[in-house]
Amino acid sequence: MSNEHPTPNTPNESTQNSNKVSPFLTSPLPEGTPQGQQTSLNQASQDTPITEQVPHYNLPRGAGKTGNVGDTTHFGFKTVRTEDKAQKVAEVFHSVASKYDIMNDLMSFGIHRLWKRFAINMSGVRRGQHVLDIAGGTGDLAKVFSREVGPQGHVVLSDINESMLNVGRSRLLDAGCTNVDFVLANAETLEPFADNSFDLLTISFGLRNVTDKDAALESMYRVLKPGGRLLILEFSKPVFEPFSKLYDLYSFTALPIMGKLVANDSESYKYLAESIRMHPDQRTLKGMMEKAGFQNCDYHNLTGGIVAVHRGFKL
Ligand code: SAM
Repeated sequence: MSNEHPTPNTPNESTQNSNKVSPFLTSPLPEGTPQGQQTSLNQASQDTPITEQVPHYNLPRGAGKTGNVGDTTHFGFKTVRTEDKAQKVAEVFHSVASKYDIMNDLMSFGIHRLWKRFAINMSGVRRGQHVLDIAGGTGDLAKVFSREVGPQGHVVLSDINESMLNVGRSRLLDAGCTNVDFVLANAETLEPFADNSFDLLTISFGLRNVTDKDAALESMYRVLKPGGRLLILEFSKPVFEPFSKLYDLYSFTALPIMGKLVANDSESYKYLAESIRMHPDQRTLKGMMEKAGFQNCDYHNLTGGIVAVHRGFKL
């Protein structure tokens, strides 16, 4: 783990990098990855009509607030209608929910536990605080926060996906976490939550799945108390180019195979690898946090930038 703050790419450098073909990819990354220059994606979608069938899952109220995104967006490397993305993400997490924890350990060789521990250490969580873990899934962070805030404190584990939330609920109840509530909520609106209600917000490996990330950041700012902090733990952009090639090899070949063998679902793990490449890089995400109103934003690269923890405050 390191605390380096790399010199980020200029926009031009980003574009050049995204056009390079890794020897481990069957085709070039779509233009704009991993910094998401929307123009070229939108252009691609104008050329190719989107006809794909999408699944229909019940999503919580407020799902579909995607006003900062155009008519089309990305789902992994595919261009999809913006209104369809949440359904496609829901399909992924319904499919993997029961095998999610074991897959996390296998895919990361257990290192995701260290990344999460690092984020928890940066959270400065204290007894009696109110914590919201957004896109909290099976509850790794919420479980620790439940202990840290103690009986006077309160933790909300929220997720858009019932299957993930159900796994989290039974895990945390089995662990005796009595100060945790489980709430179905879309990160884009955080509709169930009042303004200025949490001391600490976390979103761990969730933001890259959200269609309208700007809307999500604005909602996070709204529900955070003045003086509170937001922590975003997410895959990011490796800082060392030769390492990126190895990482590509691993993620585009090994992950779908593991997904097939363990969860009988290679497509969802292909989406995982692709969605990571489409996520904003470290500096872009920091800028998005600042645009949403967060102050004193910074980030820490972990494992050479494979993952980064971003932190921002509402002052
Ligand atoms: N936070 C957990 C962790 O670190 O292990 C789970 C992360 S899992 C990779 C991503 C989670 O994001 C899934 O549980 C998924 O349902 C949730 N998610 C995706 N889109 C969301 C949205 N718009 N609002 C809230 N949760 C969302």
